Amino acid sequence: MLQDKIKQYTEEIEHFVPSSAADVEAFRLKFLVSKGIVKSLFEEFKTVSAEEKRGLGKVLNEFKQLAEGKFEESQSQFQQSANTLKRVEGDLTLPGEGLELGSRHPLSLVRKEIVEIFKKLGFVVSEGPEIEDDWHNFSALNFPPEHPARDMQDTFFIKKQEGNDIALRTHTSSVQVRMMEAGKPPFRAIMPGRVYRNEAISARAHCFFHQVEGLYVDENVSFADLKQTLFHFVQELYGNGTKVRFRPSYFPFTEPSAEMDISCTICKGAGCNLCKGSGWVEILGCGMVDPNVLENCGIDSKKYSGFAFGMGIERVTNLKYEIKDLRLFSENDSRFLAQFETEII
Ligand SMILES: [Zn+2]
Repeated sequence: MLQDKIKQYTEEIEHFVPSSAADVEAFRLKFLVSKGIVKSLFEEFKTVSAEEKRGLGKVLNEFKQLAEGKFEESQSQFQQSANTLKRVEGDLTLPGEGLELGSRHPLSLVRKEIVEIFKKLGFVVSEGPEIEDDWHNFSALNFPPEHPARDMQDTFFIKKQEGNDIALRTHTSSVQVRMMEAGKPPFRAIMPGRVYRNEAISARAHCFFHQVEGLYVDENVSFADLKQTLFHFVQELYGNGTKVRFRPSYFPFTEPSAEMDISCTICKGAGCNLCKGSGWVEILGCGMVDPNVLENCGIDSKKYSGFAFGMGIERVTNLKYEIKDLRLFSENDSRFLAQFETEII
């Protein structure tokens, strides 16, 4: 019966949900082409009695509109998504864009190199917070209350509070304090990290830079151990034959204290602009840990002794790569950074 067929196909169309453009095309081929179902039902309509035609004509026309409506709706749905796809993908015939490879930052390269050298000597890496209190950054390290490094000009204070200000650490020595407070000797560790000083930015100074400090505390640690360790370090970093010399110096947290120079990395001691004709360049500060610092951290200074040293990674990098302006390290200029691409390790 024609009426039953219309009913059955109406249901089919109402439940039709296309999931691709191919489904829509299949729908068109089934219902709307010249040999499709809509046409064939109209053919069949011609054969029914005049009485039946009266009721069925309207039903059949509604069925036709339903089929055509469904087709248009489905078609526009997939045309739209096809357009969206085109916009996202762009012109697929165009040549692709090259992906630029990143490279390690020169400071990361040098930090890694320094860490590797000390690891071979049995030093472990220790890290601590960049926001510190007065105790860990100054007091425990034997800084007298009136010491100029505590002045507002040198330190970025975050919060002033009675007896224990909060500030950005000015050196990674604070990590040494935390390490000694938390454990028992022997300690043999290096502390790489970023530090902050309230200074005007220029080619030679910056408000933040990076340090690697080292600490060795055990029974019978002597200045000779310190000299030998650092001598080995510069041979590894700058090559065999690099000379070292120690000059007496002063730091609140070491006694005795020294500054260490190495033979100029450019002229090898003959004299040049970098070393101002002297043949020597300063590389780090060091000394025997002041007994007061050991006691502040709960370590028996009669039983234990230790040495400590600290260097700026920027300084070590400048000597290695002859970089003359500190600001290059933080400007992210890819022309500068790309020069280290071959150093990916
Ligand atoms: Zn020189």
